[in-house]
Amino acid sequence: MENRADAIVVGAGAAGLLCAGAAARRGRRVLLLEKMQQPAKKLRITGKGRCNLTNNTDLDGLLSTVRNNHRFLYSAFSTFPPAALMALFEHELGVKLKTERGNRVFPASDSARDAAEALVRYAKTGGARLETAAAVKGLIIENGAIKGVMTASGAVGAESVVVATGGVSYPLTGSTGDGYRFAAQAGHSVEEPRPSLVPLHIKEDFCRELTGLSLKNCELTLKKAGKTVFQELGEMLFTHFGVSGPLVLSASAHIKGECDEHALSVDLKPGLTPEQLDSRLLRDFSGNLNKDFINSLGDLLPRKLIPVIVRLSGIEPAQKVHDITKKQRQNLAELLKGVTLTPTGTRPVEEAVVTAGGVRVGEVNPKTMESKIIKGLYFAGEVLDVDAYTGGFNLQIAFSTGYLAGQNI
Ligand SMILES: Cc1cc2nc3c(=O)[nH]c(=O)nc-3n(C[C@H](O)[C@H](O)[C@H](O)COP(=O)(O)OP(=O)(O)OC[C@H]3O[C@@H](n4cnc5c(N)ncnc54)[C@H](O)[C@@H]3O)c2cc1C
Repeated sequence: MENRADAIVVGAGAAGLLCAGAAARRGRRVLLLEKMQQPAKKLRITGKGRCNLTNNTDLDGLLSTVRNNHRFLYSAFSTFPPAALMALFEHELGVKLKTERGNRVFPASDSARDAAEALVRYAKTGGARLETAAAVKGLIIENGAIKGVMTASGAVGAESVVVATGGVSYPLTGSTGDGYRFAAQAGHSVEEPRPSLVPLHIKEDFCRELTGLSLKNCELTLKKAGKTVFQELGEMLFTHFGVSGPLVLSASAHIKGECDEHALSVDLKPGLTPEQLDSRLLRDFSGNLNKDFINSLGDLLPRKLIPVIVRLSGIEPAQKVHDITKKQRQNLAELLKGVTLTPTGTRPVEEAVVTAGGVRVGEVNPKTMESKIIKGLYFAGEVLDVDAYTGGFNLQIAFSTGYLAGQNI
């Protein structure tokens, strides 16, 4: 078998592109094999097409957002922190960046495509050879050392192989879990892939009735055993199965154990204290005294939500507003400050933004990303059993681990 490269990087996603570019800049002959026709397909849809590249925070800030095995990422984050990534984009790749709420960093152009193409440029101008529509089928391992990979067109030899194939989420982008098979073939343990940052099934039937309704400014609280584990302001969406949208995806990452041990509550009027909301209701009611209750909430709530709130309030829809008691009004205000939703499960991992689980990190050297089992085999990115909350942290994990592998192959 002829060695066509010093190193083969499997997967031209965030981790693979960074890895290939970094290794090529060290003078390594790098072959980057991507199974899709186009590299970085997932990167192109990140951040709703705007790509939240990273988070402009320090090491502690990064580590505190990682859900599993944060200590494993200490070296990777220290070696290639957000500041280094931002400098690479702005100074070397000519992509201007901007920082938004919560230190989230985006291309100034709001174009994920710009970010993806810059990274492809980084790999290619460094000297890495990119082949697309080139799926790796398996690893070639002899006597405890990597020798190369199998592709549809035959064996390709190399001293080092980096598996940067991602997880199993959004499989149409190319991440279909091949890396887990490669890892298992090499004798690695793989923690079961699970969904994180994922829409939720909800018990309450009214979600179906509200399908398509987006709440732009609400506060979502997730509690477990009465203790608040997540609370944020933002946007959420009702769907035929339950709830989705940025707030829900973020909240889902805080679910530990069984879903139905948790409770969600939506504050529909987060800008108003209970007293202010009561005054607001009084004001709205005073202008509608002779109307039916159901016809008095038009200024307060989206149209689709009114029949649901009326039902949950226990006040008869046809009750005249002037008959509404103080107690009924206070109960209504309480309801608006906390509509209860009971999660019963998550959507499948394919619909999750991130796959939790993956290659067990105890079997990978955190200083180099090299396998502790097979010499010359490396892992980088989402294929590893690490995942984080939203805010640019998952891409930073891919970039930092990819860079570290690239420095060591
Ligand atoms: C809709 C969506 C939005 C997101 N938005 C953000 C965001 O704004 N900010 C953020 O931080 N994170 C975001 N994420 C998460 C982030 O995109 C991933 O964590 C990150 O892309 C993982 O990078 P990776 O390189 O490990 O894997 P991937 O980006 O999945 O890349 C893996 C690559 O390997 C290739 N591949 C797989 N198998 C083979 C094989 N056998 N042979 C050859 N090639 C193969 C795939 O085709 C793919 O190109 C988002 C995810 C989704 C789904």
